[in-house]
Amino acid sequence: MSTALEIEKSVKQIRKTIPSHVTLLAAAKTRTPEEVEAIIQAGVTHIGYNYVQEALPFISKIGAKAIWHMIGHLQINKAKITVENFDIIETVDSWKLALTLERHCEKTQKSMPVLIEINSGREENKTGLFPEKVEDLVVQMSGLKYVQVKGLMTMGPRFGDPEDSRPYYQTTYKMFEHLRKLNLPDTTMEYLSMGMSNSYLVAIEEGSNIIRIGTKLFGER
Ligand SMILES: *Cc1c(COP(=O)(O)O)cnc(C)c1O
Repeated sequence: MSTALEIEKSVKQIRKTIPSHVTLLAAAKTRTPEEVEAIIQAGVTHIGYNYVQEALPFISKIGAKAIWHMIGHLQINKAKITVENFDIIETVDSWKLALTLERHCEKTQKSMPVLIEINSGREENKTGLFPEKVEDLVVQMSGLKYVQVKGLMTMGPRFGDPEDSRPYYQTTYKMFEHLRKLNLPDTTMEYLSMGMSNSYLVAIEEGSNIIRIGTKLFGER
């Protein structure tokens, strides 16, 4: 576990290496309340969780002091509680999920920014849409009233050498630009969420403006 001072140092170090338009998101899975509190104290306002249940105690305690991102695969039966608690969902990858989210948003008249998760490495065992399926989903979702597509997210295959991630980030950026040019109604390509502890600099070079960092902020899990 990292101390508050160590976390503050890590935040400063990372901020030094990234341009100011890039959002630093803390990927907080498995971290203690003290660590999450320290990240807020260090000025990080975007926090991501993979599981709703893990996030809930933090959201109820910290609430509006942070912006809460769902960054894990979202099951249909968790759509309601996610809509009720999160500010942005980065992992929409099916029409069924989009429609379920829309239904829950409509009940509370809450609009929900979402990103489409793209499986840029076309990995069979991973979540996210294969690149060739993304446009159809985004077009279909542009008709939704409450769920609003604001960009793309990708994980990409994991490598030791961050250079190996570059082609997958390029694929995602190309899709991002392509979708932007379609000028779909109620759809914007504002956010491109890609890059983690070992690959965020490459991701930023390839157009990322949200980096999701766990290990480099908090230490090894
Ligand atoms: C854990 C996680 C991260 C951060 O990974 P690190 O390598 O620890 O920085 C980013 N995105 C998602 C979706 C994650 O689950």
